[in-house]
Amino acid sequence: MQLNFSGLRALVTGAGKGIGRDTVKALHVSGARVVAVSRTNADLVSLSQECPGIEPVCVDLGDWEATERALGGVGPVDLLVNNAAVALMQPFLDTTKDVFDRSFNVNLRSVFQVSQIVARSMIERGVPGSIVNVSSMVSHVTYPCLAVYSSTKGAMTMLTKSMAMELGPHKIRVNSVNPTVVLTAMGRSVTSDPELARKLKERHPMRKFAEVEDVVNSILFLLSDRSASTSGSSIFVDAGYLAS
Ligand code: NAP
Repeated sequence: MQLNFSGLRALVTGAGKGIGRDTVKALHVSGARVVAVSRTNADLVSLSQECPGIEPVCVDLGDWEATERALGGVGPVDLLVNNAAVALMQPFLDTTKDVFDRSFNVNLRSVFQVSQIVARSMIERGVPGSIVNVSSMVSHVTYPCLAVYSSTKGAMTMLTKSMAMELGPHKIRVNSVNPTVVLTAMGRSVTSDPELARKLKERHPMRKFAEVEDVVNSILFLLSDRSASTSGSSIFVDAGYLAS
């Protein structure tokens, strides 16, 4: 599927590594101007070398005031990918306040904040827009030691629908992509137990995890006019897991 985002400006959070990084590259190749937001500057430096012309923004999205300073004046954005997240593993009974707060601040609160900044500007300019929230299949199914993380993604399901409902009249679509395990740094850390990883893979009807490219393709589809009448919806990139 060849998509053309020429003339549009996109903002991708969590752009330094994994799914976010490849989303930036795909949008860049497809003609979009891209604002790449991430936490580690070295990642943004190497990404800027690979994709000349992108606009790097280095900020910890878990810090509300720093995010306001970094992105409050970001200017016109047509396409937003809320991708940054942390997967901090703790059993439910041992979950600490720090892990709870950090997880919700990065994975959910920053989605509120960045989306507010971007959507307000879309409405002021009277332009349509598309927002994709990168969620997970654990918004709908359990996973060991991910009570907090999966709660952030479960909440993201309702946030996606609420945003779609309130922003729809302004021609702003909001959807999510919900992958199974993808073997990025995050995916490797949550499947570091080889026996758990093997059993989990076996439970997928397709007997596999997802590739970064599969997730990026779904993100780009939802950003594009090819999904012009889709809003408040989710694409599961889960190799059939929810059907099993
Ligand atoms: P990843 O490889 O860990 O990359 C995450 C990126 O987000 C990194 O560049 C990271 O920067 C950045 N980031 C994290 N916290 C940040 C913060 N506070 N401020 C700014 N940037 C921050 O993760 P991934 O696998 O690509 O995950 C991308 C998305 O897919 C996430 O929403 C995740 O929940 C979702 N997902 C992943 C999987 C999976 O198995 N990989 C499965 C389902 C859903 P630093 O490294 O510098 O912190």
